[in-house]
Amino acid sequence: MSKERRIAVVAIGGNSLIKDKEHQTVPDQFATACETCRHIAEMIQQGWDVIITHGNGPQVGFILLRSELARHVLHTVPLDSCGADTQGAIGYMLQQCLYNEFLRRGMKKQAATVVTQVVVDKDDPAFQNPTKPIGPFMTKEEALRRKEEDGWDVMEDAGRGWRRVVPSPIPLEIIELDAIKALVDQGFVVIAVGGGGIPVIRLEDGSLKGVEAVIDKDYASSLLAVGVQADLFLISTAVEKVALNYGKPNQVWLDKMTLEEAKRYYEEGHFPPGSMGPKIKAIIQYLEQGGKEAIITNPENLTRALKGETGTRIVPGS
Ligand code: ADP
Ligand code: MG
Repeated sequence: MSKERRIAVVAIGGNSLIKDKEHQTVPDQFATACETCRHIAEMIQQGWDVIITHGNGPQVGFILLRSELARHVLHTVPLDSCGADTQGAIGYMLQQCLYNEFLRRGMKKQAATVVTQVVVDKDDPAFQNPTKPIGPFMTKEEALRRKEEDGWDVMEDAGRGWRRVVPSPIPLEIIELDAIKALVDQGFVVIAVGGGGIPVIRLEDGSLKGVEAVIDKDYASSLLAVGVQADLFLISTAVEKVALNYGKPNQVWLDKMTLEEAKRYYEEGHFPPGSMGPKIKAIIQYLEQGGKEAIITNPENLTRALKGETGTRIVPGS
């Protein structure tokens, strides 16, 4: 193993915690997380210093549903607290899965989770245009009542019912960045910016305050990858490779894209918002700010993709 440090930010997607609708319980999530952690441990064994980031959409949804169902007996949970709760709970899962995996492999490694706050601009245009649906579905009547009584923004969600929508502002600064760096320097595997981080705004006096918003986990992971000057930004999701004309008869899987190609394909609309779009945009931002290499693949192909055998590799130049 080389002494030279190679830092990878590994962003794990929804499929690393929840396989499908039939496997959503906490024990199910543990089993699924442990599968992904096996592949991450392999990568660490090969000498990578890894920082793991993860999504939390469904988990926040579960907390909000419980909170709603119990609101006649107990206070509800604000969104920033949902973020903190899920960072802790998911961090715990990943820490334990990694602990057991390191034990099995006889590796002297430890993982630690950093509850992470991420600064957004209080004047971000997203606050004027909330678009991210969260929490349980409601009837139209219920939705309009919550708008009236609680000031919620609500929207009809693709014919499936009404939902609360919140802003999804751009992440600007990771408050705990130095803590994350210090842990990585000390050889810890770090779990950070879970769910895109807890969105906070900076007040006039410099103090921080949590806001009712959701940060895209791919954008926050990109910001972190730039912040720690990661050698690799790896996005693990539900597909082995990225495609052009995804899901169409003329679909082509990509082994490699340059930054310029990624930008062009993005402009051409190959990567839809809400799924592949933010990943490609996050990678573009990472590469434009000095990033060296990015890979998109699924958990089971992580180590093969690192060897160049699969996955889609995105590089600054040709
Ligand atoms: P995650 O939870 O990892 O963020 P998302 O569902 O948000 O996952 O995004 C990944 C999904 O994007 C893939 O599983 C795939 O269904 C979809 N997708 C959309 N466009 C493409 C594309 N061009 N190539 C590959 N996958 C795509
Ligand atoms: Mg996503």
